[in-house]
Amino acid sequence: MTDLRNARYLVYGVASDTSLAWAIARDLGQSGAGVTLAYQKRFRSRVQSLVKDHAWVEGVEECDVASEDSVRDLHQRLRGPFDGLVHAVAFAPSDALARPITETTEDDFRVALGVSAYSLVRVVRHALPLLAPQSSIVTLTYLGADRVVPSYRVMGTAKAALESLVRELAASVGPGCGHRVNAISAGPVKTLAASGIPGFDRILEWMADVTPLRRNVTQEDIARVARFLLSDDAAAVTGQVIYADAGYSAVGVPPELDRVFVEPRLDPYEAAL
Ligand code: NAP
Repeated sequence: MTDLRNARYLVYGVASDTSLAWAIARDLGQSGAGVTLAYQKRFRSRVQSLVKDHAWVEGVEECDVASEDSVRDLHQRLRGPFDGLVHAVAFAPSDALARPITETTEDDFRVALGVSAYSLVRVVRHALPLLAPQSSIVTLTYLGADRVVPSYRVMGTAKAALESLVRELAASVGPGCGHRVNAISAGPVKTLAASGIPGFDRILEWMADVTPLRRNVTQEDIARVARFLLSDDAAAVTGQVIYADAGYSAVGVPPELDRVFVEPRLDPYEAAL
């Protein structure tokens, strides 16, 4: 395990014990780092009980990344230097996920992109004075950024914007300070945010059948990739989207559809069912 003793990280987006942010924070803590957690107000009691008895938790702070004041206040309260930050935050109004993309309102579009993409710019801007040289910034994205995924809708647009921002930010904060910015494109994992996506359980079943590794990914899988990106082992990696999805993004034709090609005499429509 990478030794992160003396390293300190700021992790946004803990909502529950299933959160990717919590798995990443716990992994960093178990690797010797100190971690400050930022969470949405409504999760206060859940997060407070989660962090009990974990000596690696240096602080637990309320923060709404949709609010400039909230993010500014948080960073004024914090004491640096930090060696990196994790942005594991996303939100889209449920109406925008339930209706066809043609019905997306401008307000819902603005909220989804504001919370899920622009917030990365906001937290990086406020964190810069608190970051040690050669810090690492990691955000979480999903394949819906560049492929159509049922029910992901405006979140796909938000994640596409987020991935573009990863490249822009990497080019902006790399020179001089040597900070790195990367995204992990995680395969589907059952968390609170994921439960809001209609049909999510069916996506999980499908993935377990068709990924090259024939399984879904876990919070711990994602946490290990985050630890790598946050550590000096990834010192030359920046501006990248790293897929941690059991290989799903590498597959052009899923196994069942494959039969259309390897058994040419099958009726292609029947074979695809
Ligand atoms: P999660 O446990 O529900 O965490 C998402 C967090 O974002 C929640 O704490 C959520 O709070 C928070 N958030 C939303 N709006 C916020 C705001 N204005 N200020 C501060 N926090 C806010 O779900 P998760 O799956 O771990 O999600 C973490 C990240 O991983 C997200 O970016 C998600 O898109 C990404 N991701 C997840 C999967 C997956 O399958 N789970 C796959 C790929 C990528 P609220 O609940 O109050 O909105």
